[in-house]
Amino acid sequence: MRMYAAGRWIDTREKINVLNPYDGSVVDTVPRAGLDDIEKTLESAVRGARTMAALPGYDRYRILRAAADLIEARSEEFARTITLEEGKSLAESRFEVSRAVQTLTLSGEEAKRLHGETVPFDGAPGGSRKFGFTLRVPCGVVAAISPFNFPLNLVCHKVGPALAAGNAVIIKPATDTPLSALKLTEILLEAGLPAEGIACLTGLGAEIGDALCGDRRVRKITFTGSRDIGERICRMAGIKKVTMELGSNSPVIVMPDADLEKVAAAVAATGYSNAGQVCISTQRVLTSGKVYDDFLDALKPKVKALITGNPLDERTKVGPMVRERDAIRIEEWIDEAVTGGARVLTGGERLGALYMPTVVADVKPDMRLFRDELFGPAVAVTRFDTIDEAIALANDSIYGLAAGIFTENLEWAMRFAREVEAGNLMINWGPQWRADLMPYGGLKESGFGKEGPRYAVEEMTELKLVCFHLAG
Ligand code: NAP
Repeated sequence: MRMYAAGRWIDTREKINVLNPYDGSVVDTVPRAGLDDIEKTLESAVRGARTMAALPGYDRYRILRAAADLIEARSEEFARTITLEEGKSLAESRFEVSRAVQTLTLSGEEAKRLHGETVPFDGAPGGSRKFGFTLRVPCGVVAAISPFNFPLNLVCHKVGPALAAGNAVIIKPATDTPLSALKLTEILLEAGLPAEGIACLTGLGAEIGDALCGDRRVRKITFTGSRDIGERICRMAGIKKVTMELGSNSPVIVMPDADLEKVAAAVAATGYSNAGQVCISTQRVLTSGKVYDDFLDALKPKVKALITGNPLDERTKVGPMVRERDAIRIEEWIDEAVTGGARVLTGGERLGALYMPTVVADVKPDMRLFRDELFGPAVAVTRFDTIDEAIALANDSIYGLAAGIFTENLEWAMRFAREVEAGNLMINWGPQWRADLMPYGGLKESGFGKEGPRYAVEEMTELKLVCFHLAG
């Protein structure tokens, strides 16, 4: 495919191969943008931002609504593209497409409700003859930098609210998975988006990222990706608005009163989807010593039953990792844990980029499997004795994106909600759950700022204060 920059579809001499993670075959090629392309794109985006800001909210709503309908009509094509470039199973890709339709629809609705509020100046000393209100205005040019793991819906979570708020957007999709973002760009243009209201630049973040993020013409960066790249972008950004949706090693706490069959089913459902490459994937399963062995007995067969293989095969539940080197990394971390005394109950094998769904028991808090973000198809089970210890273990992380607890005890559930340091807290489910309308984002080094269209439009706008100084 070609990339879309400065109002037209363009190519470059140098190309990037987009590979099928399952068999390494070339799915397509995309241009490799250089610094010249960044400059042309920024000049055009500044014009695009003026056009977008002048577009009435109802028109922005209609464009986003039409784009949602077009994606829905082409659902199967989008699902196949996601599976081919990212490697998740077709069922997961179809679900991602349906979520993208939701995300754009919700974003369109927000275009109709962006508003300020009156300010009660008469409540201030000497304020009786003042009348004030706030206005929400677009930021201008938004850079939207996205990760590989949800190549359509996470792009929609940036592009939808940015356009709803009247900005121009420059998408920089992950190099492994640019095709869905390019198709989304096509659809937005088909839906009537002004030609310079969007750009989609394919190219290596390491080559073009600094120039894009550091440029003064970009007034807002919305980034989803790893903690370390996020930190680099924050340093490069200078003085501009930034949203950071970063990584996690999300915990779930299994209290002694939990229904273990239900917990095991939930962990099997939330620890392995997209081969564990979900930012809120269940990674650390903190389990009460009173039910530890029974829980492992319940979990093992459920994980063992997950069918691994070609993601285009309708029976496959767990596809490959996006790159073989990631599967090798998972293998190393698990081998290291085993050397330190942990036990592999099921899985623990690799076949190229496929890593078998794995349960590792007796994981200690100083192991990488516990400390760092695994981002792979394995869960680490660790024993605790008291709720205090469980909460301390859950919080023993630089991350704080999502967490879960299984219990029927309201006091425990409430302590979990108050004391666990995470942005999304699930009672009686694993950390991996999201509705696209909810406020979504992390605490600590999982980032800052919220996604979910209703919340993201606020991040995509600036607030102005207007005050009338009336006579008398
Ligand atoms: P990544 O390696 O950090 O890449 C994310 C994006 O940043 C890619 O588009 C990448 O481009 C770009 N990039 C790389 N270097 C850059 C630079 N110097 N300046 C600007 N952009 C640059 O992350 P990933 O491997 O794609 O995704 C996995 C990570 O995303 C995990 O940590 C996961 O937890 C996190 N994630 C978080 C959420 C959330 O909502 N909190 C959701 C999904 C994923 P290239 O591809 O060209 O390198």
